[in-house]
Parts: sequence; structure tokens; C-alpha cells
Amino acid sequence: MYVRGVGPRVAKMLAVKGIQTAEDLLYHLPFRYEDRQHPRSLDELKPGEMASVIAEVRGSALLRTRRMPIFELTVGQGRCALKCIWFNGSYLSGKFHAGQTVAVYGKVEPSRSTSNLKMIQPQFEVLPDASDDAETRLLEVGRITPVYESLGGARLASRWQRKTIFNLLEAVRGAVPECLPREMLARLDLPERETALREVHFPPEGTPFAQLQSWATPSHRRLIFEELFFLELGLELKRRRMRERAGIAFATTDKVREAIREVLPFHPTKAQKRALGEIVADMRSASPMRRLLQGDVGSGKTIVALQAMLVAMENGYQAALMAPTEILATQHFLAARKLLERSSRKPRVVLLTGSLDEDRKRHTRGEINRGEAQLVIGTHALIEEKVEFDRLGLVVVDEQHRFGVLQRFKLMKKPNQAEPDVLVMTATPIPRTLALSLYGDLDVSVLDELPPGRTPIVTRRVPGEEAEKVWEFVRKQVAQGRQAYIVYPVIEGTKEDQPELDFSHDDAEAGLEPPPPTARMAARKSTRKGKTAELFPKAAQEANPGAKSGLKSAVEMHEKLRTGPLAGLRVALLHGRLDADEKEIIMRRFQRGEIDVLVATTVIEVGVDVPNATLMVVEHAERFGLAQLHQLRGRVGRGAAKSYCILMTGPRVSPLGEERLNAMVRTQDGFELAELDLNLRGPGEFFGTRQAGLPDFRVANLVRDRQLLELAKMEAARFANAPGTDKARAGEVTDAERARVWARLKEAWQRRYGLVEAG
Ligand code: ADP
Ligand code: MG
Repeated sequence: MYVRGVGPRVAKMLAVKGIQTAEDLLYHLPFRYEDRQHPRSLDELKPGEMASVIAEVRGSALLRTRRMPIFELTVGQGRCALKCIWFNGSYLSGKFHAGQTVAVYGKVEPSRSTSNLKMIQPQFEVLPDASDDAETRLLEVGRITPVYESLGGARLASRWQRKTIFNLLEAVRGAVPECLPREMLARLDLPERETALREVHFPPEGTPFAQLQSWATPSHRRLIFEELFFLELGLELKRRRMRERAGIAFATTDKVREAIREVLPFHPTKAQKRALGEIVADMRSASPMRRLLQGDVGSGKTIVALQAMLVAMENGYQAALMAPTEILATQHFLAARKLLERSSRKPRVVLLTGSLDEDRKRHTRGEINRGEAQLVIGTHALIEEKVEFDRLGLVVVDEQHRFGVLQRFKLMKKPNQAEPDVLVMTATPIPRTLALSLYGDLDVSVLDELPPGRTPIVTRRVPGEEAEKVWEFVRKQVAQGRQAYIVYPVIEGTKEDQPELDFSHDDAEAGLEPPPPTARMAARKSTRKGKTAELFPKAAQEANPGAKSGLKSAVEMHEKLRTGPLAGLRVALLHGRLDADEKEIIMRRFQRGEIDVLVATTVIEVGVDVPNATLMVVEHAERFGLAQLHQLRGRVGRGAAKSYCILMTGPRVSPLGEERLNAMVRTQDGFELAELDLNLRGPGEFFGTRQAGLPDFRVANLVRDRQLLELAKMEAARFANAPGTDKARAGEVTDAERARVWARLKEAWQRRYGLVEAG
């Protein structure tokens, strides 16, 4: 449709921002509001608060200091004045004239000149005066005014959007189709779509301001709910469709139980029993299993998976286990082989990773294809090397959040065979509500209990200057027969050869000025880029340019420690750039206790299991993300002996870094840390990348809107269950409404959630 104010050029600018239709524009909501109906008076402002103020321009000046030009604007109301300061503000020269009315928004700061307050880098708008047209005046002053993120420079800033969206809303008055059933809206007490859209942009008089700012008005809730409802409905359908496919109904006979009993090395925990029960129930049913096994580090997921794989094998099927790194694949391979030695059947276990030489790969592929290998363990090579299984029954994916391969299992089975069961394991403790709602197409089992005999890990923060004490402690532990990890953020100190960074991105905060919210959002988006490029970037978990930040590196510190403070101990180096054989050899030696201290990067982060290792030292701990630190700490405390995690910090720790370190010291509960992480970083970064299948929302926010997410999930299931009816009886959904919901779902799912697309 034609939108007033949007010609071809503007349309292009909008398209860059993902706004391609009139509807997109209507869903581009204000990120805050200004109460220009009841403006604040200057004399009631308090330092420290965020405030929006309407005042008159008194004067302005560009001050050329030695470091940078500073623009100063003084605005006033009666006898009160407020000074606004912009660094590098030359661009503001000539923008203001005495007598103009302006709205400024920012943090109120005390000023040196006693009576005055100031704002640094506030957002501002010059308000219309009598010379502007009536419509502009109507939208800008004397009301609650929406403030938008700019859609392209000054041209498409807030004022343009107010006008354009206002006109658009007028043009579509009475013609915005409802996409949710009336019955649902009535029951949930949510406004209609058109009303909601109108009122989030132009809130009616009397709308509680606090509710607006927190996106909690009924209109906001309606739009958020709508978005989440269609997400959940799509997930629900995916799940139903999967259930309808032909899967394998495994049998669990006494023979199968005996095969498991033979190899099980310990009594499973209650949680492990429950999870296995759920998994086996799925496996027995004829529809394909899609289950997520969630459990904190060390909760014992591996053995649960192995039992499930035994069920498949005992039924004459092959099982595959896919790990995110070669180290882990190798470790699983060795552990599985050892465990299965006790089995009377002695199934053949093979390892397939990308770094094997071609001959060996070809040979292994053949064994898999002919069905000679019953248990196949590998990395993504299982998909990429075009392995075709003879009779694939179960696929287990370890640490799924590192790769988005869920859709690609198809490649592994022969055509016309039944859909294999899939079990995804993750150690990322995703807050339960989120897991349930986001992986709506997966069923979830949770291991919420650690195996017995663990003692809590003692976690301490130590400033870098006290390194000597730490090395001494390392020596002490080793003298007691224990082993230690020492982890660094980078492989080597030179910038050129460092791969992709994967850090917490809060360096900016150590600087002087907090970036404005829009800039911060942009930064957040851009940091995601690149990480998605490759499924398995080599050593994606480690490294960051170390040169400019002066970070200590694994290579350099390995040398220093080996010849200095840890001389005489058996110290080895492990990082992602070693070739796979070397890595494997080192890991094996560490596992056998032939190495005392492993200096490493985060390659050891996930899954590595050496119960005799009791000490984890992390240097530059402030640079690691919370999830990473938690994973690293999870490498120790796996045996009965007392374990320690020492977080050493560099000279500068950002406020967010402080929060992360404090949290680490305070708690060991992965779910609690995950909640905090989610709050600190926002869902986008929490889940790492789009690989997690996390959709981009346009109005919803997974942290803020968790309750609505739950509601949406319930409503989606209810809707999918309810039969249609052609008569509009009270309290029922009509066929026409159902048809509209489905149409809308198709559209929304394809456009917005293409990433989560059905497999
Ligand atoms: P994760 O869930 O992090 O993958 P693992 O499967 O590696 O955890 O298990 C962690 C450690 O706990 C391993 O050494 C494993 O052998 C041990 N373990 C697992 N389950 C039990 C149990 N029920 N009793 C005793 N030890 C167990
Ligand atoms: Mg594991």
C-alpha cells in the first residue's frame, strides 16, 4: 500500500532497517515516551534520575578545548536553568536559537555551579512553534509523545515517524484485520489489534506513564502476546507434525535391561532415572523422539545418553553421538569404548572426525554404511562427510547450543527409512520457562541433581598481582597428587593470528560515556555477525585479539610457568590450533595423570571430564562471559576431593565484569547464573547466535516478557487442540477466525522465524 511520506528513496532507507511493509512500520514501536502533557519542572529534578524536560533555549556556545570541541546549551524555566553538554558537538552549532522550546532527555547530573544541574549528551528535540503546521504541533506537544529509534539519520528521526505513522494509522482506520480470535482476546482481556497499534504509538490521555515506559499497557501486552503466540503456535505445529512421522518403536525387553545393567558403572541418581525413563518412553513410541536433555555441568548427561544408545543398539539399530569439538568426540569415544568392554555383546564403536586422514575416513564411512559399526561417535563430520548409516536409530547431539544442526539429520539416514530418534543434550542451564517455551518443538528432560559425593567448589577472586600465591597453591595441589587447569583468554599475544572473538562485549563500559541506547543496540547486533558464518569456526571458543589489550596468552604463559613458578611440574599446553592428534594425546595424558598442569584456552570449556583435576585457575577472568566461567569451573569438582576455582583478574574490571565475578563467587547454581546472565546480556547474546534458532522479535523481549511467553504457549496449545466451528457461538473460535490465524502464522513464521524452520 501507499504510505504518505514514503517515496522510493525513503522506502529504500526503511528496507535497510527491515521495514518493508506498512505493517512493519506499524510494529516499529516507540522505545520510550515523553510526557509532554505534564512536563517536569526543573526545580524538582534530582541528580541521578533519568528525566525528560521541556524548557526554553537561553543560549549556546561551542567551546574548543584542547581535547575536543564541546557544545554547551543552556535551557531554562523561569529562574531555573539546566546545562546540556555534548562532546564533539560541533555539529550542533547553529541548531538552537534563544526562545525556542526544546525537549531534552537524559540523566540528571550535579553541576559545579551550585544551583544548576546538567545533562551530558542528552537526547533532544526542538519543539514546534506557532510557525509549524497544526498537525505537527498536535503530535509533538501537549500529549504523551512517542520517541522512536531513528530509521535513518535526522531525516527519519522521531518527528518523521510520528507524522508518518499517525497518517498511516488514519489511512487504515477500521481496516486493520484482527489476527487473533475474539474469544481469546475477551478471555485474556486484551484489546483488538488496531486499537493496540494506535495506542502504543499515540497513548490516550491518562495512560499511566510508568506502564508505558515499561511496555506494560494492555496495548503493549496485546502486541507482545500476539508475536509470542505465533511463535509458540508454530513450535506447537512443528512438534505435532514430527509426531505424525513414522519413527521407530524400540522394544525394552529384559535383554535390553540386562545389557544396560552390565555396563552401568554406578547407581544412577533419581534425576538420571527420571530422565532416562522419559527418554525410553519416547523411544518406545512409534513417533520420532525430539527431546532436549538439560543438565548442569557434571550432572551426568553422558551416561544417560549412553543408556539410550544401548537401547537402540540392542534393538539392532545404529546410534550416533555428535560432539561439538574433536576433543570431546574423542573423550566420548574413549569412555564409550571402555564402558562397552564390559558388555557381553561388544558392539563396535567408531570415531569419525574431520581431521582423520582420508583413508581412515573412507574406511570408517564404509563400516557405518554397511552396518558394521553400531555406535558412531564424531563431530559435525558425521554430517559433512556424507556418512550414510545402514540403520540409524538414535542420534544424540552433545552441547547443541554450539551448532544448529537439528534440521540436518535427514542427511544421515537412508531415504525411505524411519525417522531416527533425536536426543539433544545441553549444559547451558537455560532458565526453565525459556527452555520449555523456546524449544517448544522439543520435549525437555532436566537433570536437576548432581551425582553424590561432590563437595562444593571453593571459588575465590584474586587480583593479578597476587599471582605468586596462586602458583604456590598450584604446586601444593600437585604435591597432593591433584591436577590443575590454568586457562587464558587467548592463544598467543599477537593480533594477526587470533581467530574470532567470543567474549563479553562490555569493554565500552570501562570508558567514560555510556553509549546511548540506540548505539548500544546497534553494537549488540553487530557483535553477532561473523559468529554465524561457520558452523564450527576453528576454535571458536577461544581467543580474542590480545595485542592491544595486553592480555596474557596461553602460549606465552605456558613457557613462563614451565620455566619459572611451576618448574619441575609436568606442564602441558592445549589450545585449538594444535592438530587433532596432538590434542588427543595431551588430553589422554592429562586424563591418565601424566600431566600435572594443563595450560589451556577455552578449548577445555565443554565437557572435558578428569575427576582428579581439582583446581581451575582462570586468568583475566573478567574477560570471560558468565556461561563460560561456569563451564570452566564445571571442569573441577568432579571427584570426591575438595576443588577450587581461582578467578584472577587484570588491572581493569568493568562494572559488568564485577557483577559476573561476584555472581561466580556467590553461587554455583547453574540455573541461577543463567538467569543472571540472561538479564545481564539479553537473550540475543545469552543464546550466542542465531544458531540457537532464536528468532528476532520485533516487539517481544524474552527477559521482560517471560510471563507472556508462558501464556502464549498455553494459548497456542489450546488453540491447536480446539476443534473449529462454523457458527459463532459464544466462547468459541469460528472457522473464519481459525483460517485467519493459520494464514497469519504462515506469513509470520516464514518471514520472522524462518530460522527455526521446520525440519
Ligand atoms: P555432564 O552432564 O557435564 O556431561 P558427565 O556425564 O560428564 O556430566 O558426568 C560427570 C561425572 O559424573 C563423570 O565423571 C561421570 O562418570 C560421573 N557420574 C555421572 N553419573 C553418576 C552417578 N550416578 N554416580 C556417580 N558418578 C556419576
Ligand atoms: Mg557432557
